[in-house]
Parts: sequence; structure tokens; C-alpha cells
Amino acid sequence: KKQVKSDLQIAQEAKMKPIKDIAAQLSVLEEELEPYGHYKGKLSLDIMERLKDQKDGKVILVTAINPTPAGEGKSTVTVGLAQALQQLNEKAIIAMREPSLGPVMGIKGGAAGGGYAQVVPMEDINLHFTGDLHAITTANNALSAIIDNHIHQGNELGIDTRKVTWKRVVDLNDRALRQVVVGLGGPVQGVPREDGFDITVASEIMAIFCLATSVQDLKKRLARIVVGYTYQNEPVTVADLNSEGALTLLLKDAIKPNLVQTLEHTPALIHGGPFANIAHGCNSVIATKMAAKLGDYVVTEAGFGADLGAEKFLNIKARMADIKPEAVVLVATVRALKMHGGVPKTELSKENIEALQEGMKNLEKHIETIRAFGVPCVVAVNRFVTDSTGEIETIMSWCEENSVKVALTEVWEKGGAGGIDLAKELLQIMKTEESNFAPIYDLSATVEEKVETIAKVVYGASGVDFSPKAHKQIAQFEQYGWSYLPICMAKTQYSLSDDQELLGRPENFRITIREFKPSIGAGFLVALTGSIMTMPGLPKKPAALNMDVDENGQAVGIF
Ligand code: ADP
Repeated sequence: KKQVKSDLQIAQEAKMKPIKDIAAQLSVLEEELEPYGHYKGKLSLDIMERLKDQKDGKVILVTAINPTPAGEGKSTVTVGLAQALQQLNEKAIIAMREPSLGPVMGIKGGAAGGGYAQVVPMEDINLHFTGDLHAITTANNALSAIIDNHIHQGNELGIDTRKVTWKRVVDLNDRALRQVVVGLGGPVQGVPREDGFDITVASEIMAIFCLATSVQDLKKRLARIVVGYTYQNEPVTVADLNSEGALTLLLKDAIKPNLVQTLEHTPALIHGGPFANIAHGCNSVIATKMAAKLGDYVVTEAGFGADLGAEKFLNIKARMADIKPEAVVLVATVRALKMHGGVPKTELSKENIEALQEGMKNLEKHIETIRAFGVPCVVAVNRFVTDSTGEIETIMSWCEENSVKVALTEVWEKGGAGGIDLAKELLQIMKTEESNFAPIYDLSATVEEKVETIAKVVYGASGVDFSPKAHKQIAQFEQYGWSYLPICMAKTQYSLSDDQELLGRPENFRITIREFKPSIGAGFLVALTGSIMTMPGLPKKPAALNMDVDENGQAVGIF
């Protein structure tokens, strides 16, 4: 039996091209590439100005069914599909999220793909990369320092220290920091108040960073951030604190997209990585738009399943940034479908055709959702070695019977060669089927109507219940003029409902909105269905315990 290599081993054996060659492949001018070492670079925003009249490449969104905790391979398929398109001599480019150190040191990697469908240099991308996460952390915490200093220096704005909503951040899973008290130690140390830490990717600055369309737009959004409320309950903004200039300055280099390559030298822009629950879970708008200028096909992804990631990509990101996706790839795996058919997580590697058939309902719902947005869709079956021929055939024939386009992908095992069928299917669909993309709700609808539309159309819920607190907040939003904003749903990724135990395609259920969290700088209202963790903890045996540097200075134990 052949030895299966780890993702890190495969990545380290890759023969990378110098980053300037990858940039040249995209016809990027020498002065538009800022190399960070030999294999990473940042791309100047001047590219957008130079190519402003050029037609945009086609955007393909990769999403998935409701996953198992291990993930169903969206990043892997994203990378493999772009490699396959390149093998077919198409000018393909990837736009995806950058990983956070929280999950890297904890349990599961971020966005580097897997097997023979990876972006490299994998260790760099998963560790400090080009420092974007540092810049975002620093901008976030500079704002915290400015708030506390403002209060300490006399609190001219009358900020109610009990109502500061802006938190500090660090890019690690560190549960001990969830709730802290700052300003202890007497008058010289500031004014004591309760504070807390979130993980950096949960910072509103990360969401803003990913939705900004230019540096000027970034500054406008930063200025709008609401950091808390006065004793009169009026919102206090970054503009009130005169700090948007400093925050923009701290982000001026980070905002340039990072260029790397796949194992097969396909160009990839890896930039920004917001949470997919309290934020929208997509890489930066700037990277997606730049990729569309540089390539003919942009393969991009959105976090979690289609009920969260694709919904937000389509209702929030694509709407705000005027991006028109031409096709959606819906990743499904045999193991997740069996789980939706009732198989316990410990039995997922055993063949079970009956459960698989039952689980197809989950896939069916997501296909309906993508159709509701008017975008052509193809299912990508991400093959695992444990999948039986019978199981694969079950999915393929279900798709055929239901007139659903489908392709088997083996990119994890074979790289681009394993994604040729998918790539061909997609090229065919984009030639023959028109995308009539439109968001499923209007911004002018009420907050309640917007949430209800998402719950009914995307989740299949029969209705929505709002808590008394949520009702009160909606009235407040009306008063502050925030009701026109899109909704960012925070919900479990494991179920179509807000109960993670309800697998498959639940019916006759209602969604409960407990409260809202306004992200005015980012430009959305987060609707919380349950308690959402914004600072994860480490598991009993963190991945960090396996990591090391060997005698040659090589990274060991990242996955
Ligand atoms: P997602 O983006 O949906 O979270 P990833 O692409 O990150 O999923 O994949 C999750 C993990 O599963 C990765 O470690 C990846 O290497 C592994 N993986 C993905 N596809 C396969 C496959 N077909 N066979 C084996 N492992 C896979």
C-alpha cells in the first residue's frame, strides 16, 4: 500500500517558480509587483487603474453542502479547479482567504487546500504570510487604545464606559482573554472598565478590509465604525474620535492583494479572511476584482456551506462590489451526505447507500438556493479514497435523474488532472447557460422582511421569531438610520436550521433571532441565532503540540 504524504510534505517538495515569473504570467508590470521574499508578493492597486477599461474575467464561486466538522474540501476544490482550467490552457486565477493562526495552532488549517491541490509556500501562508493579520490586529488595537485614552483624558464625547462595544483582538485561540478588565491600578492607569478579546478574524476591521473597494472607500468605512454609545445612547464613531486616518495608514500596505502560486504554478491571490458567522466569510473585494482584471476565470470561495457562505457572497459581497458570478460549484462529499442521511460520525467511512440516498436532500436544498439567485450550478463530488463505487454512482445517477450538472473530482489525489471533468463541465455551462444573478432581497425591505426572506428561501424555515431584545434593536436601527443595510446571518454551519443537530433537510422549523450586532463600518447588521464564539479556545491536544523546526530550519507538523 502506498504511503500517503501529508499536505506539508507535498507542499515542501514542490518546485516553486520565482514570484516574478508568476506575476509575468499575468502580465503584471515589474513595478506593480512588490516581492516579499522569493515566492510571495503584493500587487499594487495601480493595476486597477491601468486595467480599468479591460473586460472582467468570469467569477466562479465555490461553495458546499452543510459540512462535517472536518470540512468537505471547498479550498481543495477551489485550488484544484483553477489548476485544471490552467491545464486546459485557460487563464485561471484563484482568489481566496488567508488563514488565521487561531485554527492553525488549534485544530484545522485555513485556506491552503489539500493534497495535490494546494497553494504554496504553505508554511508561510499559514504562519505570518505578509503580515496582513498583524496590520489588522494593530489597527484594531490602536482604536482600543484611542478609546481608552479618550475616556482617560476627560471623555469629551461622553462615552458610557459600560457601553463600549469595540473589543481588543489577538490572532490566536485564547479563551482566557474572552473577558478582561482594563484600566486597573489607580487614576494614572486610565479608567477601569470591562473589555474582552476577540480573534482578529472576527474584528470588524477584517470585514471592512474585505469589503472595501479602494483605499478611499476603506477610510470611509473605518470612519463609520461604531465603537460604543454615549450616556444619551447616541452612537460614537471612529470619525468622532478623528482616527480613520491613522487606521487607514496602518492598513495601507496590507490592503494590497498577496500573490502566490499553486503546486502547478497557477496564480493565486490570497487576501483577507473574515469569520463566516459574525462576518461574511469571503476574501477581499479588492483581490476578487483584481483577479477578474488579471485572469479570464476567477475561482473564489466563501466560508461554510451555501446557506451561509454563498448566501452572504451573493447578498452582501457581490451586491456591494458589483460582482456578477457566472457559475457556482457546489462541493459535496459522500461522507457528509451519509451524515445527513443519519449515519453517526464514527461510521462515515463504511459504505451505506441507503443513508446516502436519504442525505441527498441536503444537497437538493442547496441546489434550489443557488437557482433562487439565478446562477448556474454544478455539483462537484470531492472523492475520498474510502468512497465506494456504488456510493459515487448513487450520487451521479441522482444528479442525472434530477437534471443537475455534476462532475467527479479527484484533485486532492491527482491535482489539476483530477479536476478536468469539472473544468470542462463548467466551461460548457458558462457557454450555454446565462447567469441571471440577483440578490434575493431588496435593501429597502424592512429588517424583519430581509431576515425572513433568507430564512424561508435559503434555509427552508417556515418563519422567524425575534426576541424582545431583537425587536427593540430593530426600532433603534430605524432611529439611527441603519435599516437599509443587508443582513449578515450568524448561524451554525452544520444544519440548515439554527439547531446543529437537525441534519439533512429539516422541515417545519422556525429560526430565532436572539439579537443583532450592527457592523456599520462593514455595512451590515449581524443577526445572531444563537451564541456565536468570537474568541475560540484551544482543544485538549492543540495542533501546536506537534509543531517544530527541524535541523534544516524546515517547518514540521503543520497538518
Ligand atoms: P473546506 O475549505 O471546505 O473547509 P478543505 O479544502 O480545507 O475544506 O479540506 C479540509 C481537509 O480535508 C484538508 O485537510 C484537506 O487536505 C482534506 N481533504 C479535502 N479533500 C480531500 C479528499 N478528497 N481526500 C482526502 N482528504 C481531503
